[in-house]
Amino acid sequence: MTAKTMEELVSLCKRRGFLFQSNDIYGGIKGLYDYGPMGVEFKNNLKQAWWKSMVYERDDTEGLDASILSSPVVLKHSGHEDTFTDPLVDCRACKSRWRADQLLENNKCPNCNSEDLTEPRPFNLMFKTAIGPVDDGSSFAYLRPETCQQIFTNFKNILDSTSRTVPFGIAQMGKAFRNEITPRNFIFRVREFEQMELEFFVKPGTDDEWHEYWINKRIEWWVNQGIKKENLKKIEVEKNELAHYSKRTVDINYVFPHGEEELEGVANRTDFDLGSHTKNQNDFKITSEVMKNSSSTTKLAVQDLEENKWYIPYVIEPSAGVDRGVLALLNEAYREENVDKDNKRILLSLKPHLSPIKAAVIPLKKNNEELVNLSKEIKSNLQKLGLGRVVLENSGNIGKNYRRHDEIGTPICLTVDFETLEAKSVTVRDRDTMKQERVSIENLSEYYKKYFN
Ligand code: ATP
Repeated sequence: MTAKTMEELVSLCKRRGFLFQSNDIYGGIKGLYDYGPMGVEFKNNLKQAWWKSMVYERDDTEGLDASILSSPVVLKHSGHEDTFTDPLVDCRACKSRWRADQLLENNKCPNCNSEDLTEPRPFNLMFKTAIGPVDDGSSFAYLRPETCQQIFTNFKNILDSTSRTVPFGIAQMGKAFRNEITPRNFIFRVREFEQMELEFFVKPGTDDEWHEYWINKRIEWWVNQGIKKENLKKIEVEKNELAHYSKRTVDINYVFPHGEEELEGVANRTDFDLGSHTKNQNDFKITSEVMKNSSSTTKLAVQDLEENKWYIPYVIEPSAGVDRGVLALLNEAYREENVDKDNKRILLSLKPHLSPIKAAVIPLKKNNEELVNLSKEIKSNLQKLGLGRVVLENSGNIGKNYRRHDEIGTPICLTVDFETLEAKSVTVRDRDTMKQERVSIENLSEYYKKYFN
């Protein structure tokens, strides 16, 4: 069962410290959210799982963490300055602004139902900022609208420093910024978000096969994170809706609480980007028409040793949104259950590797020195195993602690009681089954490692 409504998720996220409206005490800014104590752990765990599968578990990829501020030249060559726009419509009656494709039927304003609307005009989604101390408009940068352009501009650096050969990929996670006309649906459409992108470089002619490979691989990964396969849909993007760089794109859609929308896109970007950033274009046949007079001095190409010629690799790009992943996984994990005939509980049945807190150690009696000291020692030993955050809960209210940890998705709670002092064992309570078992302190590390691996 997933959450019934977005409101339920929003309420849980605020109550338990996953997400807060950004700049809240001054009224907030639309389209910006802050990750709280639980949110930051959860988001980091999701990113770590992606990095593990994209970099550590493969033998054909490298990682990168490039700058967010991007030269306008890069984004000119990538096509973003000219084409990264949404159609903007003004309502003359209530002065609200909308994306043309989000109007009500019969082209009415979603706010006041008026039909008195302007013609759609292109609105560029990139944020600009001044570079250096003199803000005279002559020196500016964009906040990157996608993480991948710096992967392309670093293509040669990475080739030269790692001696990789095609096929190989470069992975990057990090912030991206889009001045969305109508941010909405909680963290689904925001103005500052994170992406997890892999650019996988292949020989032209092998691109269709690699594209299929990555579509399937990415669906498999989301299922491994806890999304039910039936809630993921493979959607072929219509030819007339393809981004300017794409030969074919398949969206992986998820059934969010507000409806089915894109969670990740897997695009065949051809040689568009590397081609556009390359100066010595006479050497190759390039599909890209964007920049014939590139000012880049670098040849972003590789040598085909068999045929003894240079070529520009094609790129397959699985591009996932971290925030949309967080929303989808919270929705999947949300449960409401009857504990008995009078009591209900909410729990997040997250996969243990994603849970913000891995274990809570709870002394039965608050401030009892013996119990608390032993709890601290157990907490510290588990923390040293390096599997994620472990917390000590010294509030003395076991029931309240169980409820809180169910709601934030902590897989196990360890209670340290008076029996612990004598029998040298703790009670371990499982989040999903609520079953309890006693585990000896001596075996606790082994038990814990086994549980999380
Ligand atoms: P949409 O059609 O929903 O605007 P898009 O096709 O423009 O998305 P891409 O450019 O393919 O998105 O970006 C890759 C991924 O980045 C998306 O699948 C999504 O998960 C994430 N993403 C894009 N825009 C936003 C946003 N405004 N807020 C949150 N995540 C976003």
